Amino acid sequence: MAHSKALLELENFIGGKFVPCSSYIDSYNPSTGDVYCRVPDSGKEEVEAAVKAAKDAFPIWSSKSPLERSQILNKLADLIEHDLEAFAQAESKDQGKTITFARTVDIPRAVYNFRFFASSILHHVTECTEMATMGCVHYTLRAPVGVAGLISPWNLPLYLLTWKIAPAIACGNTVVAKPSEMTSVTAWMMCKLLEKAGVPQGVVNVVFGTGAKAGEALVCHPDVPLISFTGSTLTAQRIMEKSAPHCKRLSLELGGKNPAIVFDDADLTQCIPTTLRSSFANQGEICLCTSRIFVQRGIYSEFLKRFVAEAKKWKVGNPSDPTVNVGALISKEHLEKVRSYVKKARAEGARVLCGEGVDSLALPAGNQKGYFMLPTVIAEVKDESCCMQEEIFGPVTCVVAFDTEEEVIERANSVKYGLAATVWSSNVGRVHRVAQRLQSGLVWTNCWLVRDLNLPFGGMKASGIGREGAKDSYEFFTEVKTITIKH
Ligand code: NAD
Repeated sequence: MAHSKALLELENFIGGKFVPCSSYIDSYNPSTGDVYCRVPDSGKEEVEAAVKAAKDAFPIWSSKSPLERSQILNKLADLIEHDLEAFAQAESKDQGKTITFARTVDIPRAVYNFRFFASSILHHVTECTEMATMGCVHYTLRAPVGVAGLISPWNLPLYLLTWKIAPAIACGNTVVAKPSEMTSVTAWMMCKLLEKAGVPQGVVNVVFGTGAKAGEALVCHPDVPLISFTGSTLTAQRIMEKSAPHCKRLSLELGGKNPAIVFDDADLTQCIPTTLRSSFANQGEICLCTSRIFVQRGIYSEFLKRFVAEAKKWKVGNPSDPTVNVGALISKEHLEKVRSYVKKARAEGARVLCGEGVDSLALPAGNQKGYFMLPTVIAEVKDESCCMQEEIFGPVTCVVAFDTEEEVIERANSVKYGLAATVWSSNVGRVHRVAQRLQSGLVWTNCWLVRDLNLPFGGMKASGIGREGAKDSYEFFTEVKTITIKH
């Protein structure tokens, strides 16, 4: 396809240098439907060069003290923060998310990821035990593993990529990162700041391209002993298969089908606005988004009425308009997939109370070809329906009634996923009981998306393997050795 020169063209970042690629992929602006950027279509050759650069940089980087690495991470955080507005604008344009979300969530969190691991790397202690009768002490050492392969998705591009780069390099590894081919721009912008931050050449390499070509080449590379992946469960299965012959260490952060459970003693003034956010923030494209809302029968009608009335107030439109709440979905294909779930629900006899097919969507002239959809609430859906079982990953949420605590726990657990759950109740005993029995890596009660990065993050069942967080990421990105000294 011929393109005008005005298109933004990205380059791979290998060994501290920007390197052009022999072929490129089109990247779309989701809010206009126009191609606006060309992303390298890297494959084995580019991955080979990046892994070599990372391998060469490993001896020097891994021998730096945690304090030296910490200072560099802090400097990088400062530089990204200095350019926060430019990063936010780029993220919003590339992903379709609202400028407000990019300004207040994505980029601040990317900055914080570097600051957080710059600090936490200074505070780990290793174990030591004594065996007096044998005249021995035992202690553990932790060392960086080598070249880490980091693969991230399109929904929170820089946020999730830096959640991997920061702990990997803080621990002394060097990295080859592959962002999503649909949202590569902010990773490329970050590369421009690495030298100024003092990151030595080859410590962070970024290879752009598709999962099938660039991602798989990284997963299959024999000199990449660990892969940290965030994305869909289906891709994770493929990564497990492809990395098995090399016995790679894997951290897999995958999809979810997250329940919110609203008991009849819940404070609805808190619960309704938070559950709207947990359902529709970032167009519902957050792995932690709520997509099954179980409401106790006594308050079901009231909840539904208030929830739908509030959902209708969410403004959909041009992501760069700061008054807009819902931007564009990532791609035309994804929009069609999300819409198809609403269609299926309707065909099964569920009631669509607002949004898709019910209300009309008025878009500004420049956004007519963008991938927009109204927040959609579906009621009377059967638990076995695909809308209640599969990850939709869009602004669609299902609301159903329940009677007892026992029943709702069983129903909430009856999906293949187990990432995040939310429980709304003012009964402290109940909150503890329910949280303990939910099959979910994260349980929020009377709140949503409140995170302490010190603590483990990750999912159960098909939502993932492993955890990330201060201690968990440290353990993943280092190799432990037990040493015994006899005196
Ligand atoms: P995806 O699995 O399609 O792609 C994720 C990344 O993997 C992309 O960079 C892609 O290019 C790459 N990839 C694809 N095929 C590959 C292969 N064969 N080998 C190596 N790499 C490959 O996921 P997506 O559509 O980009 O993201 C949405 C999914 O991510 C949702 O399921 C969502 O729940 C999940 N997610 C999970 C978390 C979490 O922390 N648990 C966070 C965000 C998103």
